[in-house]
Amino acid sequence: TTAIRTEAERTYDLDRAHVFHSWSAQAQISPMTITAAAGSYVWDGDGNRLLDFSSQLVNVNIGHQHPKVVAAIQAQAATLCTIAPQHANAARSEAAHLIAERTPGDLNKIFFTNGGADANEHAVRMARLHTGRYKVLARYRSYHGGTDTAINLTGDPRRWPNDYGNSGVVHFFGPFLYRSHFNATTEAEECERALAHLESVIALEGPSTIAAIVLESVPGTAGIMVPPPGYLMGVRELCDRYGIVLIADEVMAGFGRTGKWFAVDHFDVTPDLLTFAKGVNSGYVPLGGVAISPTIAETFADRPYPGGLTYSGHPLATAAAAAAITVMSEEGIVDNAARVGAEVIGPGLRELATRHPSIGEIRGLGVFWAIELVKDQVTREPLAPYGASSPAMNAVVASCKAQGLLPFANFNRVHVVPPCTVTDEEARAGLAIIDAALDIADAGLA
Ligand code: PLP
Repeated sequence: TTAIRTEAERTYDLDRAHVFHSWSAQAQISPMTITAAAGSYVWDGDGNRLLDFSSQLVNVNIGHQHPKVVAAIQAQAATLCTIAPQHANAARSEAAHLIAERTPGDLNKIFFTNGGADANEHAVRMARLHTGRYKVLARYRSYHGGTDTAINLTGDPRRWPNDYGNSGVVHFFGPFLYRSHFNATTEAEECERALAHLESVIALEGPSTIAAIVLESVPGTAGIMVPPPGYLMGVRELCDRYGIVLIADEVMAGFGRTGKWFAVDHFDVTPDLLTFAKGVNSGYVPLGGVAISPTIAETFADRPYPGGLTYSGHPLATAAAAAAITVMSEEGIVDNAARVGAEVIGPGLRELATRHPSIGEIRGLGVFWAIELVKDQVTREPLAPYGASSPAMNAVVASCKAQGLLPFANFNRVHVVPPCTVTDEEARAGLAIIDAALDIADAGLA
């Protein structure tokens, strides 16, 4: 233990001296050192084991260190570490084939990127070139990535300091019944009014100026708002009516997270472009991409696509994807996510909601759930303001960690997003820890 602690202390000290962290005021952070991981668990610098109910950034869908995927990366490294994108390569070809087999409808061409943000960058570029239009509509309460176009698509406060007013993105409200912008009281009302609102935005912005509508099939970091039945189909119809490209961002919701390969599969909708990353290879090696419809692919049949990257379809990343997808199929990992969500997490959260006055709403599917925490169940005042944290939220997170659970928290929400491989026992153990942590939130209510 002493040796581990000394090593972890060195890691921490070097981190504080030299590592510049994402999204942070550098002097105000104190990163947890992680020294090892396996399955649903990680180990911190003091040797404590934590149940990973975050899947890191909701990307480790097959769990940590899956031996078959580790072996595939090792084998690929021994064979061919890297190759330029203009060459055909077995790892890239196999991964593209396996992805195209699973993406909905006729999305059969795959453009590989390094992650989710650049997948969205390229999807927007393709839509603009395909339509000859510039403007893009995106949702409030969304996250699409940290690069320039992607952060401007984003509908959360991380956009604000990056928005110079020249991105060509216009935001609209999606359906979110619990905090309805449309004074709706039922899912059907929320769906109908959200679609009418979107059609008004299209009409007033000018249909002939709009290249694409970008949305997360199920918004993730912004709160896991599963769309009401009919909403995504309605957006699809609006896109068809006005010649707008539909881009579904499945970076977080895709590859098993919702209990199906892609979240759009729950709604029988095929987008024109589908972006993915994270779960495609559980983040073992950075990878993202765009799945492209035949119509859009045709636009670039005899006209060069003006975009590319040195590591498009990198062999280590695509070998990891081919192995991860194969493992997910062989081991029934997508079905496990659906079953654990329906049989353990969903019922478990509904039971917690009956006992904890700090729970305003629970919502989700598969291994993709949000607990919306409030100060008051009647007024629905959030336990932390939009875009911020609060002492009460910090206390809930600290209690989870002290009890051996690594949570995913955002503003006033705790998300329950374990790996798709999580067992019933692990899911129950995690919910029991959250149950105890919520007592702290309850106690602070007036
Ligand atoms: N889109 C969604 C829905 C995401 O959740 C994320 C990351 O959290 C991204 C895009 C950006 O992906 P990356 O961080 O790999 O660039």
